[in-house]
Amino acid sequence: MAQEAVDIAIVGAGFAGLTAARELVKAGRSVVVLEARDRVGGRVENHYLDDGTALDVGGQWTGPGQDRIIALGAEMGVESFPTYGAGATHIEYSPGGRITYKGPIPDNDPQALGELVQAIMALDQMSAEVPLDAPWTAPKAREWDALTLQTWMDTNVTSEAAKARLALAVEAVYAVEPQDLSLLHMLFYARSGNGLMTLVSTEGGAQQDRFDGGAQLVAIRVAEELGERMRLSSPVRRIAQDGSGVKVEADGTSVRAQRAIVTAPPALAGRIAYEPAMPALRDQLTQRSPMGCVIKVHVVYETPFWREEGLSGRVVSDDGPVKITFDNTPKSGSPGVLLTFIEGADWRRYAGCSPDERRKAVLERLSLYFGPKAANPVTYVERDWPAEEWSRGCYGAVFPAGTWVACGSAIREPVGRIHWAGTETATVNCGYIDGAVRSGERVAEEVLEALQQ
Ligand SMILES: Cc1cc2nc3c(=O)[nH]c(=O)nc-3n(C[C@H](O)[C@H](O)[C@H](O)COP(=O)(O)OP(=O)(O)OC[C@H]3O[C@@H](n4cnc5c(N)ncnc54)[C@H](O)[C@@H]3O)c2cc1C
Repeated sequence: MAQEAVDIAIVGAGFAGLTAARELVKAGRSVVVLEARDRVGGRVENHYLDDGTALDVGGQWTGPGQDRIIALGAEMGVESFPTYGAGATHIEYSPGGRITYKGPIPDNDPQALGELVQAIMALDQMSAEVPLDAPWTAPKAREWDALTLQTWMDTNVTSEAAKARLALAVEAVYAVEPQDLSLLHMLFYARSGNGLMTLVSTEGGAQQDRFDGGAQLVAIRVAEELGERMRLSSPVRRIAQDGSGVKVEADGTSVRAQRAIVTAPPALAGRIAYEPAMPALRDQLTQRSPMGCVIKVHVVYETPFWREEGLSGRVVSDDGPVKITFDNTPKSGSPGVLLTFIEGADWRRYAGCSPDERRKAVLERLSLYFGPKAANPVTYVERDWPAEEWSRGCYGAVFPAGTWVACGSAIREPVGRIHWAGTETATVNCGYIDGAVRSGERVAEEVLEALQQ
């Protein structure tokens, strides 16, 4: 087995690990990045069509306030462009039929819309009381962490239509249903991303822009810079530490270092064997941090035919498995690409179907929304994230009731020579690529300071 010695061993080559490595190298430190997969990018991945078009099968969008990923993209020479559909007509579909609308939210049912906006404003107001660096210290932390979002909705939102729309927004942002989510976590995450309204919005919100050539291109370029410091196909199985350093053991290689940084999401970080064993609170945290559930689906057509009818390609629907769609056509305008997500309960229902059954169900829904042309794509590409061995879900960890108050304080607390990063540890834009980049920057500073002691 190969053995090497560096200052810092980094586990994971997603945006957190790559950023940490880059910052530490800039500071003159030696690093090795150990990545389980045979590629970099983690939850951000390009799938290339035969003509070279990159489809973002993982994370893709950036928006206002996501300054660190925007800066990194610019440094790596990857351009951004706006998500298609500003000013165009969107579709809302329900068992009652198909209607079209403009603007951020369907407005055919003013009463439901009013209640929805009120609920979002109330949640955003509550979230202002949650300290981003320590949600468990919020004045009402115990009360809010004891409730699920569903319980709050049952008490505070009266119309079924408003509840259904709020549930849809929550599924789209958190990839779980309201009963899976601590109210405190929901509030923390919303504040971390500058409010629920920002998180559900496209123009002016978290879905505003895309990277030309796919978001993974940014990660690929950072990894190219890091060059021989990258070790792909090297899943880390065990990390041992003592007074003199850490030993990080991966398949086929072992690294001695002064410090280790683990960037895998908590659920996966908890599957590494540690010696000595993790403190109980840290282990409790990793036991209580499930990931959301999403299959991301791209349906590719020769042209974005819906644009000819003035349609944005965006749908909101009460009925699965296709409840949300976007136009994910590349910047060049060809081929035409519709994007959808199968999330939460729909994921549980459809992940067990055969790929053919799933495809049939998706195309049937798209035909209801966009007409018969939607039934005949040239290509269909899907990625089931909970099935991915080295992610086990997305978009990020979703804390159920009780996690923050019971063991949230362990989220970034170093354990001896082991430090934690990854989007789940971010205070700003937690769950997003930007949060991952910020966590990489924060942990690099933390490690540099520790090395000076
Ligand atoms: C379908 C989907 C859509 C999304 N949409 C968006 C979006 O539009 N905008 C946005 O900002 N965010 C989005 N996200 C979330 C975003 O992708 C993540 O927040 C971000 O990429 C997380 O980066 P990270 O470095 O923290 O973690 P990861 O990307 O998960 O990186 C961790 C790395 O560690 C590796 N690893 C795990 N265990 C081990 C081990 N034992 N040994 C070695 N390596 C290991 C993994 O393979 C992985 O490469 C989306 C995610 C998905 C999956």
